[in-house]
Amino acid sequence: MVLRRTLTRRSLLLGAAAGFVASRARPGRASAGYPFTLGLASGNPTADGIVPWTRLAPEPLSPDPSHPGGMAPIAAPVRWEIADDPAMRRVIRQGVADAEPQFAHSVHVELAGLEPARDYWYRFTVGDAASPIGHTRTAPSRTATTGRLRFAFASCANYEHGYFSAYRHLAAEMPELVLFLGDYIYESVSQSPRRVRSHSDGVETTDLRTYRNRHAQYKTDPDLQLLHAAAPCLAIWDDHEVQNDYADRWAVNFADPAAFLVRRAAAYRAFWEHMPLPRSALPNGPDATIHGRFDFSDLVSFLLLDGRQYRSRLACDTGPRGGAKQLVDAACPERLDPRRSYLGMAQEAWLYDQFRSGSAGWNVVAQQQMMTEFKQLESGAVTHWSDDWNGYPAARHRLLSQMRDTGLANPVVIGGDIHSFFANDLKLDFDDPRAPAIASELIGSSITSVGPPHGKFVAWVADNPHIRFFESRRRGYVSVDLRPSRMEVAFRVVANVRDADSDAATLQRFVVEAGRPGPLPA
Ligand code: FE
Ligand code: CA
Repeated sequence: MVLRRTLTRRSLLLGAAAGFVASRARPGRASAGYPFTLGLASGNPTADGIVPWTRLAPEPLSPDPSHPGGMAPIAAPVRWEIADDPAMRRVIRQGVADAEPQFAHSVHVELAGLEPARDYWYRFTVGDAASPIGHTRTAPSRTATTGRLRFAFASCANYEHGYFSAYRHLAAEMPELVLFLGDYIYESVSQSPRRVRSHSDGVETTDLRTYRNRHAQYKTDPDLQLLHAAAPCLAIWDDHEVQNDYADRWAVNFADPAAFLVRRAAAYRAFWEHMPLPRSALPNGPDATIHGRFDFSDLVSFLLLDGRQYRSRLACDTGPRGGAKQLVDAACPERLDPRRSYLGMAQEAWLYDQFRSGSAGWNVVAQQQMMTEFKQLESGAVTHWSDDWNGYPAARHRLLSQMRDTGLANPVVIGGDIHSFFANDLKLDFDDPRAPAIASELIGSSITSVGPPHGKFVAWVADNPHIRFFESRRRGYVSVDLRPSRMEVAFRVVANVRDADSDAATLQRFVVEAGRPGPLPA
């Protein structure tokens, strides 16, 4: 396999150990340390473009706020090259980008004019120091006919809960595209003696320096570096990129929404700095646009959503909650209020426009959380989790109605957040077991994050017949092999997140047949 020759964990480590010979003549040099400690990545593949990314960080966890990543506050030129062969003998494009201190010396190269559906390899150099070689791939042209796309999705990678073996096994599958659906980092810190690793600075992230260092620590992980070097990605955030269970400007322990927005601005900024995103996703203060549509020929459109930034305040949230449980029952009629939105009314309107104008054979709605109804029986009362789509049933009903009314072809909703595998039918009437499925839903587990109580959830699932599969005890990701006539899905699991060299296996396969909503065990 090409990747194996050009990039392995060993070669990454050797690259780091080989060091970086300083040259005093070069302007912008801030440190003699190897600058590519965070690896590289590529994202936002289109039919003619891709965004390669890196960040210079010779001291990735530097506590010095005036030298993020150990870099002096001056711009540093970074050479980038892109080639059409894995050894990079045929460089087809190259240039120099300035790694600017205001963006933590990150580099986002917005390449255009590439060929559709082509493999490319890329690397960065500063002086004598070279990054590893990364592999990426452009999308097929929107008007092309493509017989197949192999993609995968992942979420919830708490560094403290385990090793990222799942990322390594996903990299070995060489998917053409990886979707990160949120909780790519966690803001919190654990004091649990069960934690496998520690967030380096030992404090919850609250400002630009601490969010940058958290992202940097994750990017130092060799398995995550392998995955980013293997495949291009699309990334959306969930709550933990900022703070647990926030909704727009309301958050757990902030009495003042304006104060929370200052924190959100820092979190969004650090996310942009560390992800292969274009300039159009650069936050303006606490606002940033990460939702969008990505077409892969006539086969599939990916509709990426932002379920955090614009959502209505959690139902019956009377504020600072201190992370208490959020099960609401019939005593909370606000949950049903049709004026409340999970996506915000503007993003909803945008999404329904995409439904109307879409022409692909499959439509994958890539978002943060579980959309299906999940009734949870607590002390004899039906309750709903207020932080996911169950807290916004009117918005969910609008979305599913629009899917039906626009005749959207083969809608499949994918999500994460709940640290469990689910395969569900999405229906307009969840109370009628005979009501037809409008769409299929697949929920990935977590890369490492601990799942919810299995026995309790199994009992609840029994009251939700539209839930066809549930497993909260295993960690992993979801691999998808998509063809015009069928989607083949594999729920992939690692043996043990406490083992850095853990094996992986397939837990369960599903098939979604074109024209027949609802995942079927295979
Ligand atoms: Fe999570
Ligand atoms: Ca989450």
